Amino acid sequence: MYINKDFNHSYWEKKHLFKHYDVVVVGAGIVGLSTAISIKEKDQKRSVLIIEQGSTANGASTKNAGFACFGSVGELCDDLKTMPEDLVWETVQMRYKGLKKLRKRLGDKHMNYLPYGGYEVFKAALELEKCSEQITYLNKRLKQNIGLKNCFVPVKKNNFGFQHIKGILKNQFEGQIDTGLMMQNLAHLAHQMGVQMLFNCGLKNFEQLKTGVQLHTNLANLAAHKLVIATNGFAKQLLPQLDVEPARAQVLITKKIEGLKLKGSFHFDKGYYYFRNIDGRVLLGGGRNMDFKKENTLAFDLNQNIQKALDQLLKTMILPNTKHEVDYRWTGIMGVGKEKKPIVKLHSKDVVLAVRMGGMGVAIGSMVGEAAAKLID
Ligand SMILES: Cc1cc2nc3c(=O)[nH]c(=O)nc-3n(C[C@H](O)[C@H](O)[C@H](O)COP(=O)(O)OP(=O)(O)OC[C@H]3O[C@@H](n4cnc5c(N)ncnc54)[C@H](O)[C@@H]3O)c2cc1C
Repeated sequence: MYINKDFNHSYWEKKHLFKHYDVVVVGAGIVGLSTAISIKEKDQKRSVLIIEQGSTANGASTKNAGFACFGSVGELCDDLKTMPEDLVWETVQMRYKGLKKLRKRLGDKHMNYLPYGGYEVFKAALELEKCSEQITYLNKRLKQNIGLKNCFVPVKKNNFGFQHIKGILKNQFEGQIDTGLMMQNLAHLAHQMGVQMLFNCGLKNFEQLKTGVQLHTNLANLAAHKLVIATNGFAKQLLPQLDVEPARAQVLITKKIEGLKLKGSFHFDKGYYYFRNIDGRVLLGGGRNMDFKKENTLAFDLNQNIQKALDQLLKTMILPNTKHEVDYRWTGIMGVGKEKKPIVKLHSKDVVLAVRMGGMGVAIGSMVGEAAAKLID
C-alpha cells in the first residue's frame, strides 16, 4: 500500500484508517453521508470510509440556501413543458419523500426545520395569470402523487413589504432548514454508526480490478470492495465523459434586521432567484441565468455582476423600505446536466455513481443515498 511519507502515519493509523474497506464513498456532502448511512443501516458490519478533498464538505451541501422545497407552480409548469409528465411527478415524489426521510432520520429539531411555507413571487401580471390558471390541475396531480390536498394557494395580501410585484402563490407544505446544523448532525449520525471519515483526501483516479477497486488519493492508495462516487458538480474531474457540469451559485446574507417581515422561502423569476429569512437576516441567492457561461466553473469566486444584481433586487423589491446591510457573500457549486434527473447507476461492477443533484440535492439526497446503497450488493 502506498502511503504519502509526508504524513508520518503511525502503525495505528495504518491498522485502523488506511486499511482495506468494504466501501469507500467519495464526497462528504449530503449524498455521500446519506449513502454511507444507508449502507450501515442495511448491514452494520460493513466497514465504510468517506473520503473528502476539502477540510470540510465543500461543494453545495454546506453552501445552499436551506430550502426544503419540492416544487413551485412556475417550476412545475416549466417542467411540464420540457419533460415527460411521468418524470415530472416522479421527481416531485422523490423530493417529497427525500425530505420526509431526512426529517425522520434526523428529527426536525436537529436541522431546525420550520414549516413556514414556500412562495413564488411574480413581477409580470401575465405570468401570474397563466400560473394561477394551472393551480387546480397541479393540486389534483399533487394529491394523486404525494397525497397532499390544496398544496398551492394564491396569497391575497402582500404582507412582506415587497415592491414592484404583481402577486404571490404559496406552496403550503414547504419549509426551511438550517443547512449547517443538518450537515453537522448527518455527519454525527454517520460517525455514531461507525462510518470513518478522512478529510483533505482527494481521489485522483481509480481502477476497477477483477474484484474490488484500487483508489489513488493524495494521502494514500486505498483498496475497497466497492466505491461510490458522490462528488456531484466535481464528477467530471474523475469521469470526463459524464453529463455533469459544475454550476456555481452566488449567495449573500444581510446583517440582522429589526422587525423583519419576511418569513418563508421565496422563489422569483422562474426560481433563478431565491430568498428567505434566517436568524433575523435575509439570505438571497441566484442570478446564474445572467451569466451561465461564467458560472459553469469549479472556482468559488464571487461574480461581481451577479452580486450587484442581488444587491439591487434586495434594495428595490425585497427590502425597499428597510435599512439593511450585507454582512457577507459566498458561492456554492452544484452539478447539473441536460436532464433534470440525478445519475444513480453502476459505472462498473464495483463502482456506483450518485451525482448530478441540480438544485434539488437537499430534497432528494436521502433517497439518492438509499438508491446508491441498494446498488451495492
Ligand atoms: C446556493 C445554493 C442553493 C441551493 N438550493 C437548494 C434548494 O433550495 N433545495 C435543494 O434541494 N437543493 C438546493 N441546492 C442544491 C443542493 O445543495 C445540492 O444539490 C446538494 O447539496 C448536493 O449534494 P452532494 O452531496 O451531491 O454534493 P456536494 O455537497 O457538492 O458534495 C460533493 C463533495 O465531494 C467532494 N469532492 C469532489 N471531488 C472530490 C474528490 N476527487 N475526492 C474527494 N472529495 C471530492 C467535494 O469537496 C464536496 O464536498 C442549492 C445549492 C446551492 C449552492
